[in-house]
Amino acid sequence: MSSAVAMEATRRRQRLSSNGGASETTEEPAGQWGRAWEVDWFSLSAVILLLCTAPFLVFFFVMVCDQYQCSVSQPLVELYSGEATLRSIWDKAPSFTWTAAQIYTVWVSFQVVLYMCVPDVTHKFLPGYAGGVQDGARTPAGLINKYEINGLQSWLITHALWYANAQYFHWFSPTIIFDNWIPLLWCTNILGYAVSTFAFVKAYLFPTNAEDCKFTGNVFYNYMMGIEFNPRIGKWFDFKLFFNGRPGIVAWTLINLSYAAKQQELYGYVTNSMILVNVLQAIYVLDFFWNEAWYLKTIDICHDHFGWYLGWGDCVWLPFLYTLQGLYLVYNPVQLSTAHAAAVLLLGLVGYYVFRSTNHQKDLFRRTEGKCSIWGKKPTFIECAYRSGDGGLHHSKLMTSGFWGVARHLNYTGDLMGSLAYCAACGFGHIHPYFYIVYMTILLVHRCVRDEHRCSSKYGKDWKRYTDAVPYRLLPGIF
Ligand code: NDP
Repeated sequence: MSSAVAMEATRRRQRLSSNGGASETTEEPAGQWGRAWEVDWFSLSAVILLLCTAPFLVFFFVMVCDQYQCSVSQPLVELYSGEATLRSIWDKAPSFTWTAAQIYTVWVSFQVVLYMCVPDVTHKFLPGYAGGVQDGARTPAGLINKYEINGLQSWLITHALWYANAQYFHWFSPTIIFDNWIPLLWCTNILGYAVSTFAFVKAYLFPTNAEDCKFTGNVFYNYMMGIEFNPRIGKWFDFKLFFNGRPGIVAWTLINLSYAAKQQELYGYVTNSMILVNVLQAIYVLDFFWNEAWYLKTIDICHDHFGWYLGWGDCVWLPFLYTLQGLYLVYNPVQLSTAHAAAVLLLGLVGYYVFRSTNHQKDLFRRTEGKCSIWGKKPTFIECAYRSGDGGLHHSKLMTSGFWGVARHLNYTGDLMGSLAYCAACGFGHIHPYFYIVYMTILLVHRCVRDEHRCSSKYGKDWKRYTDAVPYRLLPGIF
């Protein structure tokens, strides 16, 4: 916010009473919102550490399966004892291949075509599904972007083709993804870095909306966390919507299917653990696409700027690390006892129920502006006011009933329960598949703190009233 706008905003600042009643003019400063304007040393160190280590971490978790049956400790022991060197490990890893480059080019191009050239028709015949052109949330500069929501359709077409190929056409083997996994890693890295660098340069040279750009003055932070809020090419190619959802999340279920096909090829059967991982993660992916319009109102789209964190993360981190369980099960085909399988299924489904219901309650509450029923009652809420960068005053409501009255982020708790279920489906032989729950816990706790920091600067005292009313974040009575 420029200082002139901020002063103007301060002059015009109005605060609503707690019940959303009459508003009055005060001289209090308006809360700022969006990501950091200034970078402290801790954030800068974290950013540089992540930029330097994340690509190696992805390589490590994939390489240990390829060379060490997914044992995380074995390469470290061999390095320590001198049996292996970094060079020998690197030399054994499959390198870039033109076959992988062709597969990946066809894949990304196909997803671009489905995203840009096939307007959604599924919303016309699927009751309750919100597809087609939808509004996004208000940006910090006060804009409301339009999005073409056709992710579910893209997912259905892609999976129908995958099925048709596996059953009838046999153009390629269903194990194609597994068979080219490490060469594909190099290709996804090329795209991840290219997209992040392009978005970085674009923000300086031809931003889509200059008023929604944020420059912190620190080049590493800008590169990692992004400058542009909603970079686009033309009217419709939205970087965030495409890269967040399409090449990575559509691929997620195909990657798992490829792992299941590999188990079948290697052992002549598919384990119940592999089926569980496929089913639970497919529910999560389908939920994402069914609710793609709702996704426009989540933090990724509403608040994060587009940089390496989203660009590289969506191209590389997500497809490789969110699918570690299936990869592990190819090398370690675990057959679970019925009781173990049932417990994993239950945990996964209860987690999904909490995750979905919590998200649904907020969506319903916000869509109807509180005129709805939550757990059979009229929802209670705290009325808030905030200012966008253009100085405009807006009103909002923070719900304090349903799951949102139990804790401030039970959707994350449900997500974590589901994540734990995927890991537990792999048995207890190795820690490799459990990396996911460790990562998700760090991601969602950090996200929680980050979001609350932002909400606190956006809503000021109103946020404090909300946290007094709902004191816990993820686990009532504990955190
Ligand atoms: P939320 O959907 O929880 O959105 C947080 C925002 O909701 C806040 O910034 C605030 O926005 C608004 N809000 C907060 N409290 C209330 C309330 N009491 N009543 C009404 N609105 C409120 O967070 P995310 O966008 O992070 O997550 C969406 C889902 O995606 C979650 O279920 C999460 O688990 C999942 N997720 C999964 C990831 C994965 O990698 N698998 C990664 C990230 C998220 P406002 O400014 O509008 O008030």
